[in-house]
Amino acid sequence: MNPGLCASCRHARWLTSAAGSEFVQCRLAELDARFAKWPRLPVLACPGHEIGGGAGRA
Ligand code: SF4
Repeated sequence: MNPGLCASCRHARWLTSAAGSEFVQCRLAELDARFAKWPRLPVLACPGHEIGGGAGRA
């Protein structure tokens, strides 16, 4: 799965389902309604993207 910009974003939190699927939770969504809590991947353009590595990537 290609997550696009979320792969390198400090606001991304990675979660894995029981079936082994990976999802990205955007932590910026808690602070700013412009962002989806569960962004549709791949994210190709995002004003909130900040380099820093996603947290919790398995
Ligand atoms: S701010 Fe954008 S690039 Fe970063 S985790 Fe959220 S949706 Fe992905």
